[in-house]
Amino acid sequence: MRATMIHAPGDIRVEDVPEPKIIKPTDAIIRTVATCVCGSDLWAYRGLDPVADSHPMGHEYVGVVEEVGSEVTSVRPGQFVVGSFATSDNTCPNCLAGYQSSCVHREVMSTCQAEYVRIPNAEGTLVSTAELPGEQLLPSLLTLSDVMGTGWYAAKAAEVGPGSTAVVVGDGAVGLCGVIATKELGAARIIAMSRHENRQKLALEFGATDIVTERGEEGVAQVRELTGGVGADSVLECVGTAQSMQQALKATRPGGNVGFVGVPHDVAIDGQELFFSHVGLRGGPAPVRAYLPDLIDRVLTGRINPGKVFDLTLPLEQVAEGYKAMDERRAIKALLTP
Ligand SMILES: [Zn+2]
Repeated sequence: MRATMIHAPGDIRVEDVPEPKIIKPTDAIIRTVATCVCGSDLWAYRGLDPVADSHPMGHEYVGVVEEVGSEVTSVRPGQFVVGSFATSDNTCPNCLAGYQSSCVHREVMSTCQAEYVRIPNAEGTLVSTAELPGEQLLPSLLTLSDVMGTGWYAAKAAEVGPGSTAVVVGDGAVGLCGVIATKELGAARIIAMSRHENRQKLALEFGATDIVTERGEEGVAQVRELTGGVGADSVLECVGTAQSMQQALKATRPGGNVGFVGVPHDVAIDGQELFFSHVGLRGGPAPVRAYLPDLIDRVLTGRINPGKVFDLTLPLEQVAEGYKAMDERRAIKALLTP
C-alpha cells in the first residue's frame, strides 16, 4: 500500500510499504477514507522535533473497518468509523475519569497518512456512525479525530461556560475549532487572536465576536481593554510557544483558567508569577475519545461545521505539497484522500 514517510526535516515521501495486519486481538484494520496533515506534524517537518530515523506520519483518520481482531465486538467490517489520535481501552481508571488520552494501554497513532491503518485498542477507540456519511460531512468528521476534539478540550480545560468571556490564542485549525467549542459551550464574548485575514474571517464565521491582531504585550493590552481591564474568564492556548503561553497566562483574569493544548516547545512557567496570578492551568493531549459521540452528533445534525478548516484537498500521492503549503502558511490544513 501507499504510505507517507518522513526521512529528514522537509523530506516527506509517499512509498510502498507492507499493508498492516492484525497483531493483537484488540486491533482493527481500517481502510482510510480521509486523513490529513496536522500542525503538530510540522514540528518534525521543520526540524524542531528531531527526525532520528525514517518513520511513517499521520495521526488523524476516518475510515471503513476492513477487519477486526477476535476481541473486538463494538465495530465490524463495513462500518464507517472515527477514532482519536490516541487509542484507549475506554475501561481503565484514567479512561473512566475522562482522560482517555492517558489510557494505561494508550498507543498514539503515527501511521495514518496511508491507505490502510492498524488501530490498537479498537474496541475503546473507534466510534461508528449508523450509516456511511455523505461526502460533504467527511471533512468535519475527520476533524473530530484530533483538531475539533482538541479545541473542545481546550475550552473545557479553560472552563468556558454560559455567558463567559473567552480568548483563543492561535489561529491554526485547533484554535479555529476552539472558537467553535467556546461558542457551543455558551461563551458570550469570544476574542480570537489572529494576524491572518482568511483565518480571522473563519473565526468570525465560527462565532468570534472580536479579533485582536497584536501579539505579546500589545495583544495582552488589547484583551485587557476589551475585558474591563482584568482579562478573560477563559483562555485557550492553541500554539505551544513560550510567547503564546505568556500571552495566554497574562490575558486571563485572576480566578480565570487557561486550557493549553499546543504541544509546548521551550515553554517555561515561573512558579511565583503563576502563584500570584491566581490563574488555573490545565492542558495536555486532548481526551478526544470522550467527546466523539457528542461531536459526531453535532456534525451529523449540521450544528457545527469544523471541516471548513480544510482549505486544501490533495490526493495522498501529493502529501508533500500539503506539508509545504501548511509550512508556508498558504493553507490552514490539508485533507488527503487515498
Ligand atoms: Zn484506558
